[in-house]
Order: sequence, then C-alpha cells, then structure tokens
Amino acid sequence: MTSTVDSFADLGLSESLLKTLSEIGYETPSPIQAQCIPILLDGHDMIGMAQTGTGKTAAFALPLMESIDIKVAKPQALILTPTRELAIQVAEALQSYAKNLPGFHVLPIYGGQSYTIQLKQLARGAHVIVGTPGRVMDHLERKTLNLDNLKTLVLDEADEMLRMGFIDDVEWILEHTPEQHQTALFSATMPEQIRRVAQKYLVEPKEIKIKAATATVAAIRQVYWQVSGMHKLDALTRILEVEDDFDAAIIFVRTKTATVELADKLNARGYAAAALNGDLNQQMRERVIEQLKSGALDIVIATDVAARGIDVPRVSHVVNYDIPYDTEAYVHRIGRTGRAGRNGNAILFVAPREIRMLRTIERATRQPISPLTLPSRADITNKRVADFKGKVAEVLNAEGLDFFANIVSQIAEEQNVSAEEVAAALAMMAQEAKPLQIAGEDPAPPRPFREQRNDDRRPAFGDREPRKPRFEDRGERPRFEDRGDRPRFEDRGERSERPRFEDRPPRTERPPRPAPAGDMVRYRIDVGREHGVEVRDIVGAIANEAGIESRFIGRIGLYEESSTVELPAGMPAEAANALKRTRIRGMPINLRQDEGRPAGSFGGERKFGGGERSFDGERKFKKKPFNEC
Ligand code: ADP
Ligand code: MG
Repeated sequence: MTSTVDSFADLGLSESLLKTLSEIGYETPSPIQAQCIPILLDGHDMIGMAQTGTGKTAAFALPLMESIDIKVAKPQALILTPTRELAIQVAEALQSYAKNLPGFHVLPIYGGQSYTIQLKQLARGAHVIVGTPGRVMDHLERKTLNLDNLKTLVLDEADEMLRMGFIDDVEWILEHTPEQHQTALFSATMPEQIRRVAQKYLVEPKEIKIKAATATVAAIRQVYWQVSGMHKLDALTRILEVEDDFDAAIIFVRTKTATVELADKLNARGYAAAALNGDLNQQMRERVIEQLKSGALDIVIATDVAARGIDVPRVSHVVNYDIPYDTEAYVHRIGRTGRAGRNGNAILFVAPREIRMLRTIERATRQPISPLTLPSRADITNKRVADFKGKVAEVLNAEGLDFFANIVSQIAEEQNVSAEEVAAALAMMAQEAKPLQIAGEDPAPPRPFREQRNDDRRPAFGDREPRKPRFEDRGERPRFEDRGDRPRFEDRGERSERPRFEDRPPRTERPPRPAPAGDMVRYRIDVGREHGVEVRDIVGAIANEAGIESRFIGRIGLYEESSTVELPAGMPAEAANALKRTRIRGMPINLRQDEGRPAGSFGGERKFGGGERSFDGERKFKKKPFNEC
C-alpha cells in the first residue's frame, strides 16, 4: 500500500475511537485515511481526490466525530451525498464508528422519505445530518434544519453531485450555511465546476490526491467477477469448485472480523480454511502459514498486512474477495500466487460501484483483467458428476471388489431389481454428504422497481450513472430519446457501468428490456429547457427520488416549459408520492399523467413541435389529478 502509516494510533485519534476501530476490525488506515485524518483533525479545509472504495467515509467521519459535542443535540456536521443510498450508507458507517459514543445521533435525510417522519427526527435532535442536496435545501428553506452550530461540512462524491445536476443546490446550501466551519470536499475527479466551487467556498484547502502507481505483475491469469445476483460466499465456492488447477488459495478481505467470519463459513462448507490477521501473534501466524504449506490448510483468509510477504508455492489462487484500496495493494496481493515458476490465478470480486477501481488496476498493471462467467448450477453438477465418475473408475480398478459385487447381486435378487438400479441407489447414498446437484438458483434478472427497503445494506448505485444526452440540447422540435429497445447510455465511461442492483447480471448478459412500449405510461412534468433542464437531470431525479432504475425510464420529450417522460405502468404508490414532491433544478416538477397522446405514437408527439404553445391549448390535461395507479 502507498500508506506509510501503519496504525490509526499514529494519526491523532482519541483512545475511544481507536478502541472502536479495533472492535470493528479496521487494522490499518487506508492511504486516503492516513493523509486526510491529521489534516482534518487540525481543522483545515481540504480537498480529497480518491476513487470509490478507498475508504473516504472514515477519512472524514472519524475526524468530524472527534469534534462533536454530545451534550449539544444540534447538527454540528452536515454531509451531502448524491444519492439516498449513499446517505444511508454513510449514516450507517458513522453509527458504527460511534459504537463507544453513547448518545450520538446521526440522521439521514433524503428525497422520497416522508417529511413528517423527518421533521420528528429533526426535532428530536441529531448531531450529524447526512442528506441529499435537494432535501437538505428544502429543510433549510422551511427552517426545519438549523445549522447555527455547524462545525463541519462535507461534500461527498462532489463530481457525482455535479453529474446528477445537483450542483446548484449544493452551492445554494453552501451559501446558506454559517461562515465559520470546516469544509471538506471529496471527489473521484476534479471537473472545472467542482474546482470553482472549491475555490469559492473552501478556505486555503489542503489537497490530497491518491494516485494510482503503475506496476508490472508476473504472468498471472487475472479475472474478475462483477458481484451480482448472488452472495460473494456462494460465488466464491462455485468458482473454487470448478477452477481447474486449484491447489490452495489466499483470500483477501478488508477487516480482521471478516477474516474470521469467512474462515468459519468456509469451514462449515467443508473447506480447510483459517484466518490470518494482525490479532494473531507471530507464532500463530507462522503456524497458519506452515499448515498452508503442508496442506493441512487449503485456504487462508487474510488482511493485507497479515499476508505481507507470504511465500507458499502451492498457492494457486489469490481471491480479492474485497477489492483492495489501491493498485499497489493489488499487486502485493496477487504476487502471493504464481510463485516458484508455477501458474497463478488472481480472481477479483468487483461490486458495481467499484468498476472504476478495476479499470485503474488494469491501467496501472498494464494488463486487462477479463470477466469471469460465474459457473452455473449445471456447470457445478457436471463437474461433480465428472469427479464422481473418476472416483468410481479408480475404485473399479482396485482390489477386493468381489466381496461387494456379491452383495450387489444379493440385493438385486432380493429386491427383484437390476444391478443398475442397485448401483443408482448406492450412488445416491455415496453423494449424500456432498450432493452432485447443488441447491439454489442461478441469478435472476432484475425488476423495474427497487424494493423500498431502507434497511437494505447493499448499496444500489445505478442511479448514479452519468447521463450524457445523445443529441444536442437545441432545436425547435421536442427531442426524443428512443430508449425503447436499446441501452440508454452508449457512451459509457467506466464510472457509468454501475448497475442499479448488485444482483443485476453484468452488461454482456443483460436480459432484453422487459418493458415494451405498451406497458409504459407517459407523464408530464413542469420543467423544461427554459429552466436549464437536460435529459440527464430528469433521468437523475427520477432514478434517485423514485428508485426507478434508469434503464426502465422510457422516452423523454424535452420542451420549452415542460417535458414528458415515460415510466413503466404499475408504479408503486410510494414511488409516485416521491415523484410528486420531486424538484429538478430547484423547481417542483408536479408530475402527473399526460393524456395528450398514447405513449409510443412517435409521430403524434411532433404535433407539439411548435413548442409549449400548442400544449397550452390542452391545459385541461394539466389539471387532471395524478393517477397513482
Ligand atoms: P469510499 O467512500 O472511498 O468509496 P468507503 O468509505 O465506502 O469507501 O469504504 C469502503 C469499504 O472499506 C467499507 O466497507 C469500509 O467499511 C471499508 N474500510 C474503510 N476503511 C477501512 C480500513 N481502514 N480497514 C478496513 N476496512 C475499511
Ligand atoms: Mg464514499
């Protein structure tokens, strides 16, 4: 790792937080944490540039928690995030860091959630607010959120907020916060507009940039699996089972806790596995490595620090169960395989939001990492049957079969069945401990509406795809993006490849679009070109506020004063309600069903080509109450 700091204790954090970090299993600070924490503890403003998965949350959360006065039940820190999923996730992280801080209160506030609940929660008093820009702005406007006691303001994923069209809201918020506070801005990239915001609102910020160092790696087969449709553990066991030259593996995870948990789970599934982490003393560590060498263990689950320098030639596989913080760590990790001239395999698990890190690793190592197709149930069965046949063949060559052949004949005679049937019964018995056919399903295709579960710990980030309009945003006639039968975003940057569901199959295997034109309902909204709105703003707001995956959003017609958007029929009331309250570029969108033309009649739409005037003639439609389906 690029980090030269090996311990959180060197960063100036309090004993209580250090205890918490050890309890939740953080062993060493990630590079961005090692650099940012001292700066923020010193009270400086700062800009942090590092991509997803580098540990930015703790980088800003730990210092800001040190500054919270628990006795003051007022917001002392505000964290702005681009999506509600992130708001929830960041709030959860803070809650976990507050394990030894009784009375600490963090409150996520985001669009789509009932105001009544939020108002109650706000009134109860929270020390930290984590929110999406639109909703935070709303509460500031309504004076239901008071920032007089604000000490720290964090803009998390600033470039993403820009991409989603929230930058005006963010600036508005920055203008409406008291002057005396620390500001930290985190972003994976630094587009001009973000740089401008930083210049305007940050005071002599320190700048931290985590660069990806280039490195060469040995000739190791490198593959990745995009986490989708299945738990990592199930995927891991499926993969290990069909890997041809499997001998032994080192599996890398992020926390000490995870090493132990995963070792337990793998043991329960019949693998000879053990954890290797910084809690083990030198003697215990050496013992684990000896066991791996001798074959008493086949799998070691390790943290980066604990696995440094391991040299066990029989390690045929390295699995990056949790993606590393940086390319250097990746190179160290995969260097544990392919040793002593043997073949090595490196498997990387990549969550949708981590695709960027995957690309960075590829660039830094100057080697492509190819996608791995997860073995299907049938693949596993075939492999197990083949192994079984091999074992039977071995036994057929063994001595002393006569005694057993005699028993088989007796059974066949007594039961009046063929020897084949007896063999089938014996085969069935033989596989009882490890059935030839595995239970469970192969990953299913995603559904158009996200389950509205706030307790869902799996982040769903698909709504954070960049929304690049395919046409110029000009011209008299309304523009339609025909999104009926092909993926919406042709020009997908790395960041864009994050599907909404973790369980969505990778792009190459994407099922055909499930929503034919007939199942779409067209809505009208009160924002248009005149308000500076672009197609991506509409997609962003709808995806984010109503939890509708962007690829299920149909054609969008952009007019001067209003726009139309097609959404799948059967929208849940919760999503519909969320949309009724949604704002785009600060304007209430007033979404309601548009009855001007049936959805899908492209030609009819052009009638509105003259702009908003012809539509005005149909005002009556505007008055129609929104149908909640
Ligand atoms: P980012 O905001 O940069 O995308 P996160 O803050 O969400 O990254 O962190 C990614 C994951 O890494 C989280 O699961 C977090 O708990 C874990 N993590 C962060 N810092 C550490 C650390 N020092 N040790 C172990 N795990 C960590
Ligand atoms: Mg983050």
